Amino acid sequence: MNQDDLFKNIISHSKEYGFIFQSSEIYDGLSAVYDYGQYGAELKKNIREYWWKSMVQLHENIVGIDAAIFMHPTTWKASGHIDAFNDPLIDNKDSKKRYRADVLIEEYVSKIEAKIEKEVTKAQERFGESFNEEMYRKTNPRVVEYATEAEGINTRFKAALEASDLAEVKQIIVDLQIACPVSGSRNWTDVRQFNLMFSTAMGSVSEDASEIYLRPETAQGIFVNFRNVQKSGRMKIPFGIAQTGKAFRNEIVARQFIFRMREFEQMEMQFFVRPGDEMKWYEYWKETRLAWHKNLGISDKKYRYHDHLKLAHYANAACDIEFDFPFGFKELEGIHSRTDFDLKQHEKHSGKKLQYFDPELNQNYVPYVVETSVGLDRMFLAILSASYKEEKLEDGSERTVLNLPPALAPIKVAVLPLMKKDGLPEMARTFLDELKFDFLCQYDEKDAIGKRYRRQDAIGTPLCITIDHDSLTDKTVTIRYRDTMQQERIAISELKNKVEEIVGMKKLLKALK
Ligand code: ATP
Repeated sequence: MNQDDLFKNIISHSKEYGFIFQSSEIYDGLSAVYDYGQYGAELKKNIREYWWKSMVQLHENIVGIDAAIFMHPTTWKASGHIDAFNDPLIDNKDSKKRYRADVLIEEYVSKIEAKIEKEVTKAQERFGESFNEEMYRKTNPRVVEYATEAEGINTRFKAALEASDLAEVKQIIVDLQIACPVSGSRNWTDVRQFNLMFSTAMGSVSEDASEIYLRPETAQGIFVNFRNVQKSGRMKIPFGIAQTGKAFRNEIVARQFIFRMREFEQMEMQFFVRPGDEMKWYEYWKETRLAWHKNLGISDKKYRYHDHLKLAHYANAACDIEFDFPFGFKELEGIHSRTDFDLKQHEKHSGKKLQYFDPELNQNYVPYVVETSVGLDRMFLAILSASYKEEKLEDGSERTVLNLPPALAPIKVAVLPLMKKDGLPEMARTFLDELKFDFLCQYDEKDAIGKRYRRQDAIGTPLCITIDHDSLTDKTVTIRYRDTMQQERIAISELKNKVEEIVGMKKLLKALK
């Protein structure tokens, strides 16, 4: 199956099985806004818990807060969002479709990079064991030609962005002969800047109302609370403040399901360090965050780092952790060394000191910040797309299964009486009443057992427990594993421990390095 079809199937599976619905669907939806259904909400909550626990519970020096979405408007002046939270926008005059000019160029470069990888893979297959990849990349004429072309575009694009030269950004698009994917035409408007913040009015009477913004990132809620948390929590540098919550961006192009939404959720952590120590911590968090992703058991090949070409004016280092989505490698998480920019800006605009007294150095300073910022919805899409499988079974039948990491699965255990009689439902209910205090379980007695297994596979339930006539006498049940479909007979007395061992969040957290 090609990747486009796969992505379409994932989207329709999400809807059919209660993971994700379009917002206000009965009114034909609202563009780039989505609702999480009964299973989606659980999966999302579990991803958030995995993040929160690994950040806050497992780090003595990180605490979590929950700041409001509305903030004093000066916050956004100080942070630079009012003046500079823009994306370069370009319209195709024929299709009337709007694009991000930077994305059009980046996608062009990605296509060249994909060609390089194709050449390398082909050569690898041809030369086998004796293949020297490094040498090949340096010397193969075709690969060198592609690499030079990509580098040339990147350098030119970087210079245009640094000089805020929008005419040059357009010229790059023209020179590369980039066409609109919808109309196929190269009839482009000029490139313009577009501010991504949503604004609204606060106040009961319109004359008194002041314009406020829906936060475009959660980070500023942490910066403005830096002193409150540091003092009340008696935090010593280095320390972190973590937060999860909604953010809003009026994205120019929002066509990739929950990858780019106008209302989304972030999981951010700002780590405050001594000036001069930031590179050490930047490397630490880069590694730690990648390890957190890989710990989920999804193939290592699906992740890669991407160092930023153009650093934001406040950053002295920045990279993304990219994930191989059905539409290619794209940013999943950002790790940024933000210097003392934000705290200094808030000092300047608020007139309040945002400093730390370092007892070891006997000196006051504005701490430097290393941040980790991951989109919860993108994380959801990464996990969902890596877990979705359409399998052909040995007996010729087919199943759709979500191989979700067990600790993240919405339903942990399905309890299934083999038949709807002879006391089996009653026995099944006794289990459920016990297990439900620790795990989200589902009871299902409708249809043949095979059909019930398929329903659980489709929502990613790791374990099914079947109660049959023997269970009544020998106090054992059948446990069926989602991924292998193997079945095992186990004593009822061992059940709870067994379930915990397989689906517990503890195991996932303990595996973190
Ligand atoms: P992009 O380049 O894709 O627009 P960004 O660099 O603007 O992303 P950041 O500002 O670094 O993103 O935000 C941190 C994280 O928040 C991103 O890595 C991503 O996971 C998530 N995120 C950002 N914008 C969106 C969005 N519109 N929808 C869903 N998630 C988002």
